Amino acid sequence: MVTLEDAFQLLKKLSDSFGPSAHEEEVRQIIIEELEKTCDKVMVDRWGNVYGIRNGKTDNKLMIAAHMDEIGLIIDKIEKNGFLRFRPIGGWTEQALISQRVVIRNIKGEKIIGVIGVRPPHATPPGEERKLPEIKDMYIDVGARSREEVEEMGIRPGCVAVLERYLTRLGKKLVTGKALDNRAGVAAMLLALKMLEREEPYMTIYAVATVQEEIGLRGAGIAAEKVNPTLAIALDTTIALDVPGVPEREHTIKLGAGPAIKVMDGGRLGMFIAHRAVREFLIEVAESEKIPYQLEILLGGTTDATAIAFRREGIPAGGIAIPTRYVHSSVETLDLEDLLNTAKLLSRSMIRAGPELIEKIRDVIVK
Ligand SMILES: [Zn+2]
Repeated sequence: MVTLEDAFQLLKKLSDSFGPSAHEEEVRQIIIEELEKTCDKVMVDRWGNVYGIRNGKTDNKLMIAAHMDEIGLIIDKIEKNGFLRFRPIGGWTEQALISQRVVIRNIKGEKIIGVIGVRPPHATPPGEERKLPEIKDMYIDVGARSREEVEEMGIRPGCVAVLERYLTRLGKKLVTGKALDNRAGVAAMLLALKMLEREEPYMTIYAVATVQEEIGLRGAGIAAEKVNPTLAIALDTTIALDVPGVPEREHTIKLGAGPAIKVMDGGRLGMFIAHRAVREFLIEVAESEKIPYQLEILLGGTTDATAIAFRREGIPAGGIAIPTRYVHSSVETLDLEDLLNTAKLLSRSMIRAGPELIEKIRDVIVK
């Protein structure tokens, strides 16, 4: 039995850890230790994707992909007076960054606290109170008085940072913190493997924690080439807009209404439509196992499924997403019940993916 508290503890460990894109070492170590408990083999590739392999009855491969990186910042300049300038790693808004605390990793691997300063209202010219500086004009204050002092702290251009934020409970079943996108997906994948217990799946499971999703779905593509799976399911968070100020028309995904099975995403940025056999399979599993679910039609953003689907000779891919509010901010919020139901849906799908599903997605000779 996996409880809400188990889910919270695991998610907290993952969410609190450091891992901006291309700097996933710390979070990767936690994932490796977890995968070792449930998998027959664990490996890491040259870019740092982690593969947990759980043997099935056959060599057919079911790949699960959940990205482990988080959005972050990269220092690009140290001013003479000791302030740091930075650029975004991944999709930030100015609102989400201003007046936050950050953790910078220095060249020795130590963590250094900084703050992104904000101009006080007392000293803001009238009419400019609502104006936000652009990210390139923001700065991090690490408490140094000069460039030399910053260098003594082991900080150089190229050092990376994430928000300083630790997961905490919110109300009865919600949690809030940073990097739930996509440590929640990783947690669901790890919990799903745990839920398998002694059951042997028909397909061999490749549970992959991917790197560099936030800067262009980089890791998942390599993993897809390497594994060459029969089919793939990507796990990520999705945008819940069930909050004040958003018109009812846009409340398509809600917290607490269950995992979201992907229909499509990407919108005008280049649509991804999930493979219909995969989508229908996931719906069938949810319905017969009585797991609540919603359907995801997301108009912005995409997931590792897009990077996997069109590799090799085409890999039928779909996705399951965990509804999350305030994505890409320091107060990302989700419902632990949704997380557990996502893990359950994934775990049951691992068991039920069998010959019938494979038959639906294979190449067909017509003549
Ligand atoms: Zn993201």
